[in-house]
Amino acid sequence: MSNLNPKPELVECKSGTAETPVIEAYPVRTAELGGGLSVQRALPHHERRLVGPWCFLDHFGPASFKTGKPMDVPPHPHIGLQTVTWIIAGEVLHKDSLGNEQLIRRGALNLMTAGNGIAHSEETPPRHSGRLHGVQLWTALPADRRKGAAAFDHYPALPAAGFGACRAVLLMGSLGAQHSPAAAYSPIVGAELSAERDGSAEVPLEPAFEHALLLIEGSAALEGEALAPDRLYYLGVGRERLTLALRSGLRLMLIGGAPFGESILMWWNFVARAPEEIAEARSDWEARRRFGEVSTYSGERLAAPAFVGRLKPGG
Ligand code: MN
Repeated sequence: MSNLNPKPELVECKSGTAETPVIEAYPVRTAELGGGLSVQRALPHHERRLVGPWCFLDHFGPASFKTGKPMDVPPHPHIGLQTVTWIIAGEVLHKDSLGNEQLIRRGALNLMTAGNGIAHSEETPPRHSGRLHGVQLWTALPADRRKGAAAFDHYPALPAAGFGACRAVLLMGSLGAQHSPAAAYSPIVGAELSAERDGSAEVPLEPAFEHALLLIEGSAALEGEALAPDRLYYLGVGRERLTLALRSGLRLMLIGGAPFGESILMWWNFVARAPEEIAEARSDWEARRRFGEVSTYSGERLAAPAFVGRLKPGG
């Protein structure tokens, strides 16, 4: 994914953590992704920009199509973050400047660690099922990893566990006794929670983590309160479990982690600490330095927007 806003804002993301369990609902907004695909962007929100290391959460689809290419994000750069791509239905083809080309479908995870810099494209492949539904999240890399080497990993299968009526697939980090093989650089959890029957569930949580929930489809109630589909629910820290009532067909994303502890700057597709780093990454992209080329993508790469370097007021 890429931020396609022609005038992206420079935002400071403070690790502002509730010290107790809370339930705060933040509205999700619609953003355009190119190719005619609109996405529901749950993070960053101007009042809630980090949940653990998670700093970005896009939900795309569900979409059905017979012709065209609903996802077509040309080559663009990233620094200082990981992209975590999880597909619910359909296919996405990833290509990057390390030479990786990876089709992703339901059940697999694509994890790209940008470090000091990588470029990638993401598109609907020529042969497809005519469906597209998924999420892409970003994690902020901590100080000791954010300038390291770029990497791309594909995990064809992930661990899963049952908690009452809930099935949890673990994308990142740990949940209960399950541990994801995906490379993470700070204490984290990312999981898909689903239900194929009505029922209830107690999902164990790490009390030292802050957490958030996003309803993807179906219906559920958290501690007796129905979850709305267009809200990100921030849950604070200190929770030992999620107490859920589930309806068959439910799908939720659970994200969390240790409070990140560092304030980050986000602009366009970059996560950094100082405006100078963002300006340098931008000019490196424009001058075709640092990031390499996605040589197998047919089409132009994305041009960087102008960088003003002024923090969004109230940021
Ligand atoms: Mn991207």
